Amino acid sequence: MSFAASVLTLYPEMFPGALGLSLAGRALEAGTWSLEAIQIRDFAADRHRTVDDTPAGGGAGMVMRADVLAKAIDHASPPGDPRPRLLMSPRGRPLTQARVRELAAGPGAVILCGRFEGVDQRLIEARGLEEVSIGDFILSGGEPAALVLLDAVVRLLPGVMGNAVSGEEESFENGLLEHPHYTRPQEFEGRAIPEVLISGNHRKIAEWRRAEAMKLTRERRPDLLDNERVKNG
Ligand code: SAH
Repeated sequence: MSFAASVLTLYPEMFPGALGLSLAGRALEAGTWSLEAIQIRDFAADRHRTVDDTPAGGGAGMVMRADVLAKAIDHASPPGDPRPRLLMSPRGRPLTQARVRELAAGPGAVILCGRFEGVDQRLIEARGLEEVSIGDFILSGGEPAALVLLDAVVRLLPGVMGNAVSGEEESFENGLLEHPHYTRPQEFEGRAIPEVLISGNHRKIAEWRRAEAMKLTRERRPDLLDNERVKNG
């Protein structure tokens, strides 16, 4: 069973985009996952194919209409579709590796990409959309966010990553940022690879990596250590 992604967008040409290349692209060709980009405009009712309108209450910008989006969603995801329905949104819960893992273990995702000021609130409620943010900044549209989410999910699908172990040692997988990496040459502009890494002592190497990961996490992301403490009680 492969992961089925349906993306609702005003710019279907943005897909698969970067996901047509490299690991994700090969997996797409191999059928490990599928991607359907649906033009929201095809579900507009008028001659001009209007998808947005002015905000109730006034103010700048435009809002995507609930009725048009509902038709698009119902087409992509009829009742009984087991896939979660996501709305890319800066107001959403920040995407985490844990959520990415859950999604990768499921049947796929229906992803709505916002544009303009966003979408009518009634649509979010009526179709039970899960709002997902990729960080505390504002993009011009949900498409790059959807590509980010799918990239993170697809690399976890069975068979996509050549070396499965490297996935488990990644940043966040164990609640820590990853340790630094080195490769040849042995000396670069006067900087040597840390002695321990060329010692051949695997226990020492594992200890060093764990300590470096701890140090980095404490410096840069102390919030991750707090989360860990909460999780472990
Ligand atoms: N007025 C909105 C921002 C709209 S940006 C607000 O202040 O909350 C237009 C669209 O880009 C959004 O509907 C959403 O789909 C997408 N988008 C912007 N920033 C995003 C982010 N950090 N994460 C996920 N999607 C984002």
